[in-house]
Amino acid sequence: MARAEQEYLAELPAVQDKTAFARSRFDQLDKGKLREVMYREQRWICIYCERTIQEGYSPPHIEHWKPLSVNHDKALCWKNLYLSCTSQGSCDNAKGKQLLKWADTDPDLPWPGDFSYQEVLGFTSRGEIYVRTDVNLSSACRRALELALNDCQNGNQKRKAILNLNHPTLVAARAAALDSEKSRLEREFRGRTASQEERADRAKSLENSDPLPAFVSVRVAWLKKMIGKGR
Ligand SMILES: [Zn+2]
Repeated sequence: MARAEQEYLAELPAVQDKTAFARSRFDQLDKGKLREVMYREQRWICIYCERTIQEGYSPPHIEHWKPLSVNHDKALCWKNLYLSCTSQGSCDNAKGKQLLKWADTDPDLPWPGDFSYQEVLGFTSRGEIYVRTDVNLSSACRRALELALNDCQNGNQKRKAILNLNHPTLVAARAAALDSEKSRLEREFRGRTASQEERADRAKSLENSDPLPAFVSVRVAWLKKMIGKGR
């Protein structure tokens, strides 16, 4: 992959139609092999919604965080590639070719490897995601995240949520993940309340598990008693 990228970057400056060149070089990669490595990196959950992803009839889409058609130099950059879910109502269908920002001129959201999204996003006890108001974020970043989650309005301009991560199906799935964490804790500590430390231990074991359970972030937020804080 690194060699393919080096060769690609060496040829890129002289190429006229950079998007077509990027697309064709990207398509020449062995996607099956690439996904194999990427499943392990993402520990089998979608980069956006945290649903479980797996190889099957409709394998996960290899997503360019910075779009291939805009950031030609990042077309084969490992850090720029992520797997997103493809089944019905999935992130891939929702996002399509849209950029994850309000205005095309806004900066791109940072790569998940470079930014702790879990620290700026919160969850309600019903399983909805929100952008925390008690954290420092540039206004462009905040707008982009809001728009990823929900339908938005800015002045008289209305836009549909790009990833629709508060779609009722996803919200219900997160609520179910929360319920299963709650009943697990009740079973384990029958007759008494788990201590702060015991909850933190469980959160850590979830964060370290491989594969990750679907909707791991909402489970961890609940275990750390972070649900609905900082709204
Ligand atoms: Zn997804």
